[in-house]
Amino acid sequence: MASDTDARHAQHEEAQVSRRQFVKRAGIVGGTVGALGAAGVLQGCTAADGAGASSQWWLPAKWDVETDVVVVGTGDAGCPAAIRAHDAGAKVIVIDKGDFFGGCSVLGGGNSQLACTSIQTRFDITDDPEWDYDDTMEFGLYRSNPEVLQAWIDNSDSYARWAEDVCEMAWARIGKQEPARVPRSHLAAAYRGQSEGSGIVISMHFFEQLEKRGIEVLLRHKMTKIFREPNGPVLGIEVETPDGTIAIKARRGVVIATGGFKGNSQMVRAWHPAFDETLIWSGWPDVLPTGDGHLCVMNIGGGVVDMSFIMEFSGRLGSRQYVRWDRPHFDNPSTRTGLPNSRLEHIVFVENSGRRYLNEAGWEAGHTLPWLPHMVAFLNIKGRPRMEWMVTDQDGAEDAEWTSYEDAFINPDPTKSPCIEPGWVAKADTLAELARQMGVPAAALEETVATYNASVAAGADPEFQRPGPLFPIARPPYWAARWCRMSHDQCTGIRVNQKMQVVDQMEQWQPDGGDSKPISAEKVIPRLYAAGECTGGTGGAVRGSGKRGWYQVHGYIAGDLVAKETPLA
Ligand SMILES: Cc1cc2nc3c(=O)[nH]c(=O)nc-3n(C[C@H](O)[C@H](O)[C@H](O)COP(=O)(O)OP(=O)(O)OC[C@H]3O[C@@H](n4cnc5c(N)ncnc54)[C@H](O)[C@@H]3O)c2cc1C
Repeated sequence: MASDTDARHAQHEEAQVSRRQFVKRAGIVGGTVGALGAAGVLQGCTAADGAGASSQWWLPAKWDVETDVVVVGTGDAGCPAAIRAHDAGAKVIVIDKGDFFGGCSVLGGGNSQLACTSIQTRFDITDDPEWDYDDTMEFGLYRSNPEVLQAWIDNSDSYARWAEDVCEMAWARIGKQEPARVPRSHLAAAYRGQSEGSGIVISMHFFEQLEKRGIEVLLRHKMTKIFREPNGPVLGIEVETPDGTIAIKARRGVVIATGGFKGNSQMVRAWHPAFDETLIWSGWPDVLPTGDGHLCVMNIGGGVVDMSFIMEFSGRLGSRQYVRWDRPHFDNPSTRTGLPNSRLEHIVFVENSGRRYLNEAGWEAGHTLPWLPHMVAFLNIKGRPRMEWMVTDQDGAEDAEWTSYEDAFINPDPTKSPCIEPGWVAKADTLAELARQMGVPAAALEETVATYNASVAAGADPEFQRPGPLFPIARPPYWAARWCRMSHDQCTGIRVNQKMQVVDQMEQWQPDGGDSKPISAEKVIPRLYAAGECTGGTGGAVRGSGKRGWYQVHGYIAGDLVAKETPLA
């Protein structure tokens, strides 16, 4: 699969407006934070709104703020939800726990997969709803919910036109990515110094539309709880602000758009025990996708789906950062993170014990899935935390082009491109010293290399059947770099129906052995919607190309519908 990150890196290097500037602007919006948190601005919010009535334990002591709709999250899903809800007549408040606007959506590549749009027609691309359905089903291992998938297909065109007409976002190009049989990956035009197809362009347009409408966006506001009447509707949320905890009443409803849970290692482990050490996630260290939305929803009886299909993986060599947007030095032209990893002919991989553990020829750097052979080999590593080191000699370092990064090996600096981490690279005149720097047993590493060199001399690799050509690891100095596995994408999460309403978990309990029914017929938690990476069901187990399109469409659907809920008394 093509690496969206590499394309994004190239795009980003051309960018002239830094994220820092954008964030700074967004910070102005965050400036309203103190006002809500400190003052309890809601006029007429009295104890009668729920205060202290002990029989009504599900209510907060008081409602500090009241609105029609609360949207939680400022990413691809939350923003369209907020704009649409506002335009449908609702008073909207958007909160985000981050200290900058846009979450993973700001950092990510901009591939937005949309189905059967008039934009495709404009570019002479013929699509077919059945192809959209079949491609997504197949790639997602047939785990999409048919109705939820269909909702994305049915709403893609109106969303794509709305993005252009209402959000003033021009679709410049449509790319083709696996598994789409025709180009479907909509890429936004370059905007205000940001390059075509970058994810930040989408966030910038959404941000401007929120600002234009005067929709309140409260950064550093974290949802910690959803208030729900027992068996009844959602009433509002509890929010931690810099000035204390407040309760926001949502007369029409709440849209959860909190992103994934890949940054919550405890939660990841709970659903997939094999991932039993801290994994880095693609937005690290800027975004914290810790599954808050999932947990708050589960806490009030909402369902989740396919949570064990945790993620697609990607990675970096010698670096734990998938992207770096802020440039510490303006004379540094690159935002690349990590060392080159495409030329591996001279490299052996060793794990914690200092021994090889896979056939290096089957290894892939791009997006990968937990059940592929090299991932299985990774999961079989017994040491903790699992380490995967690429080891080579001077010939190999030259071939892999690591020698051009010699400075980074000698002086690793995670704040400077290529953002190399101390302890994640090693270079030494002897294998014993290399092993010491890597933190693996020296005798084992020496033996591994000797065995491998004997295989090279014999022209065959009996241990792992690595195909030739094989090159010895013999000319000092020796070089090593550690591979960082990153959870990149999650396609699992809160169980929603085709209207993005959260389904009531208890609906799965059928004591009378009733027949299963379509998700559209299942009971929902009234007034609770979820959209984006926090949900599951659209694309099954695997993201395929550009799931951002799914998420924008989710928000587009949810925002309109939540605004049309009858307001609570
Ligand atoms: C580096 C990188 C590259 C990527 N490249 C691509 C790509 O090319 N194509 C693609 O399709 N996808 C890509 N992705 C994934 C894609 O960016 C995400 O799937 C998508 O942006 C998710 O959108 P979202 O709105 O659901 O969540 P997010 O954009 O993550 O937004 C969720 C927001 O909710 C906030 N939040 C979370 N919990 C709370 C809480 N308790 N209270 C208040 N706020 C909260 C977060 O702070 C965050 O701002 C990439 C991701 C990364 C990090």
